[in-house]
Amino acid sequence: MQGDEIALLLIGGVNYYTGQFLDLKKIAEIGHSKKCVVGIDLAHGAGNIQPDLHASGVDFAAWCTYKYLNSGPGSLGGVFVHEKHAKDKDLPRFAGWWNHNKETRFNMRQPFDVMEGAEGWQLSNPPILSMAAIKASLDLFDTVGMDALREKSEKLTGYFEFLIEQIASDDIQIITPVNPKERGCQLSIQVKNADKSLHEKLTAHHIITDWREPDVIRCAPVPLYTSFEDVYRLVSVLKKLL
Ligand SMILES: *Cc1c(COP(=O)(O)O)cnc(C)c1O
Repeated sequence: MQGDEIALLLIGGVNYYTGQFLDLKKIAEIGHSKKCVVGIDLAHGAGNIQPDLHASGVDFAAWCTYKYLNSGPGSLGGVFVHEKHAKDKDLPRFAGWWNHNKETRFNMRQPFDVMEGAEGWQLSNPPILSMAAIKASLDLFDTVGMDALREKSEKLTGYFEFLIEQIASDDIQIITPVNPKERGCQLSIQVKNADKSLHEKLTAHHIITDWREPDVIRCAPVPLYTSFEDVYRLVSVLKKLL
């Protein structure tokens, strides 16, 4: 109803709470039908799913690198700008010397000459130590390849889901979509009448999960460094605690 009043549709591509991976193409089509600019937050998507951003038609996407991309907190963000906007130098932006044409950047003269593509949205100096962490991580991603990672991820999360379903209890329910195409590696498990102490007990067993109020535990078996045995151990401990 309010589509015509909306300038920007900005939405998480992988929902942080449920782990649902949304249909980006459909979101882009709906947004564009109302002339909204469509942007996707891929904080939980980058390094986790294959968003196929160009084909989706979204106008832009942005993500942090400290989750699946392993850079550590306080590190760089990433941005995707769709090719259809790459050469539009009139788009408003934070202008500074890091998005100015590299050839003439240090001449310090008018007029401002913005670079094409995502480079034209860069801001200021990148932090070198954080970049080193990203480089080391992305080299691993390059070596393994996203296709192989996704293949393992679907199996690993599928195995996790299978084990959770074996816990015969009405108190727990997976709220992440069942279809592997509609999720990344994370499963969000709703636990009736539980509180954060469940998460703390898992932590005491050296199992790193995340608690979200009021009653959801988020578990992300990251394929790059999580084994099937790790997943088995998590579910065994969870079962005992429940
Ligand atoms: C982690 C996260 C971000 C990244 O935020 P920062 O300001 O880079 O820490 C953005 N959106 C969501 C939904 C996130 O979970």
